[in-house]
Amino acid sequence: MTWRFCLMLEPAASDSPLTDFSATFTVVDPAAPALSVGELSTQRGDGIFESIGVVDGHAQEVAAHVERLAHSARLCDLPAPHLGQWHQAVQRAAAECGPGEAVIKLILSRGVEHGPAPTAWVTAATAPDNSRARTEGVRVVTLDRGFDSGAPARAPWLLLGAKTLSYAVNMAAIREARRRGADDAIFVSSDGIALEGPTSSVILRHGDRFTTPAPGAGILHGTTQLSVFAHLEAQGLETAYEQLPVDALRTADAAWLVSSVRLAAPVTAVDGLELAVDRELTASLNRYLLSPRN
Ligand code: PLP
Repeated sequence: MTWRFCLMLEPAASDSPLTDFSATFTVVDPAAPALSVGELSTQRGDGIFESIGVVDGHAQEVAAHVERLAHSARLCDLPAPHLGQWHQAVQRAAAECGPGEAVIKLILSRGVEHGPAPTAWVTAATAPDNSRARTEGVRVVTLDRGFDSGAPARAPWLLLGAKTLSYAVNMAAIREARRRGADDAIFVSSDGIALEGPTSSVILRHGDRFTTPAPGAGILHGTTQLSVFAHLEAQGLETAYEQLPVDALRTADAAWLVSSVRLAAPVTAVDGLELAVDRELTASLNRYLLSPRN
């Protein structure tokens, strides 16, 4: 991954009347230190983020990402971001990305401990090469997430639907998957409901019907999954949000892990049980996901 660009933002109030936010942006060297040691993002993982895929300088689904940033901010009691300011910051970063695939990250932290304001910044970097996952697929194992499907409603302080900076657990799950000989994981609630990957949403196909776990289950509502469902629906295919028992993963005719930078990776095995790969549909999904999307 090569860093291309970093922009610090002076966060504007969500009702700011400004229409041009360039005066609130400061370009900094992405290789140079930029954060205070008192930052709560680094001390506690106390903040939120978004990762946006960029193809040939076009940032994909910016509105969906900025809206999810605002949703995460609400769940975390962070000041509401100004959507227009973040849109402009993304466009500024996208202009630095050049040809090929890149990733823009938006980060909003609670700021410096006892400090006056949140800290906000946007980075752009070249994307990792995901072509192998898109064509060869990924072997997954199911991992217990350690809470039942009632936990999101019962314990909102777990911030289960927010995209917070606290991803150590998600990274540990991927390491555990690798220890078990797989490439990635799918979290399952302790009462046996399929949830999401540590960095992806899950889409299943049974016949001509496509399903994904309902976002109310304490998972992130994936922007890629939303976009794929809109694309499938436009072709007259049936899609649904459902509570999916873990067995639905094993009986699927095809399954994918989808996310903004990886795009669609077909699942080739679940807990060692081989799954058929729908190569034609996978290729057409990735062609669609690589086309400019707003
Ligand atoms: N679920 C989790 C936990 C994620 O971290 C991600 C993306 O990183 C997703 C789902 C997929 O979200 P998106 O498609 O918006 O990238």
